[in-house]
Amino acid sequence: MAILDVRNLVVDIPTEDGAVHAVQDVSFTVNEGEFFGIVGESGSGKSVLVQSVMGLIPQSKRTGQVLFQGEDLLTLSPEALRQKRGAKISMIFQDPLSSLHPQYTVGWQIVEQIRAHERVSKEAAKARAIELLEKVRIPDAAARFDAYPHQFSGGMRQRVMIAMSLSLNPALIIADEPTTALDSTVQAQILDLLAEMRQDFGATVLMISHDLGILSRVADRVMVMYGGRKLESGASDSVLGNPAHPYTAGLLRSSSFNRAPGTPLIPIAGRPPSLLSPPSGCVFRDRCPNAMDICSEAPPLQRYDDGTESLCWLTVPPVEPPAPELPPAE
Ligand code: SF4
Ligand code: MG
Repeated sequence: MAILDVRNLVVDIPTEDGAVHAVQDVSFTVNEGEFFGIVGESGSGKSVLVQSVMGLIPQSKRTGQVLFQGEDLLTLSPEALRQKRGAKISMIFQDPLSSLHPQYTVGWQIVEQIRAHERVSKEAAKARAIELLEKVRIPDAAARFDAYPHQFSGGMRQRVMIAMSLSLNPALIIADEPTTALDSTVQAQILDLLAEMRQDFGATVLMISHDLGILSRVADRVMVMYGGRKLESGASDSVLGNPAHPYTAGLLRSSSFNRAPGTPLIPIAGRPPSLLSPPSGCVFRDRCPNAMDICSEAPPLQRYDDGTESLCWLTVPPVEPPAPELPPAE
């Protein structure tokens, strides 16, 4: 069952230079209990999509629907959305230091978060906080409860953030590049921890990453974004094993995560388009090694039986010739 059902979402952000067309007609669903990944280079619109849906970009103009447990988040007041963000949906960002207050101990911050949403005693909240810190494998959790964020390593801080995000038993955890600032061994540990917590807490995870290799480790399904559009989506195995879209194939060749030694890394030449004036036709046209004349027209979204979707002229099946007319039955 879908816990998040995004339908025809359009997000424009007014700026001094004009409107940034950050998200253009994007639809996807995240099912309950699944690990869903959104991948794309920086500037593809993936963070803006999530942040605007969560009300974190107040000036954004949004149309479409974002049904979370059946309720359209786009119709909620900022206050109602803030409540939802605390109690039902939690967010983890790339830099835990920006989410943790430097002047308070990590234990205190978890306790405050719990007590802001639930009527529990300080002692009960503290016991729960220590239990959570143990769960995310902070060594010596009871003693570290009184430590300050700067006394933790980057990986440990991200563990604290995961503990904090789990403290209210959220239905949905949104993680935006949670491992990007970490070295690759720690990245793998944090990803595995997220996947494990998803199981233990029965939560749904929506994770954003610029690296398809990272998502391949944990995601059940992925959506590939570029130039504010969804270019491909489907089960990780199929999207990563046999990408339908040239952009997905390019991302795979450029991913350094868990790459076998000696395999060359081939970055996609060029840069993503400006979202102030996205190109007409296929948004990937300028950088696509397969571009054809027809690509100056917008390709239609193709859906396959296995649930994979692709927005590319290459994946449009050729038109079948009409069946020959049969002689009229006697
Ligand atoms: Fe490349 Fe054309 Fe497909 Fe766009 S529609 S990805 S330009 S082949
Ligand atoms: Mg981002």
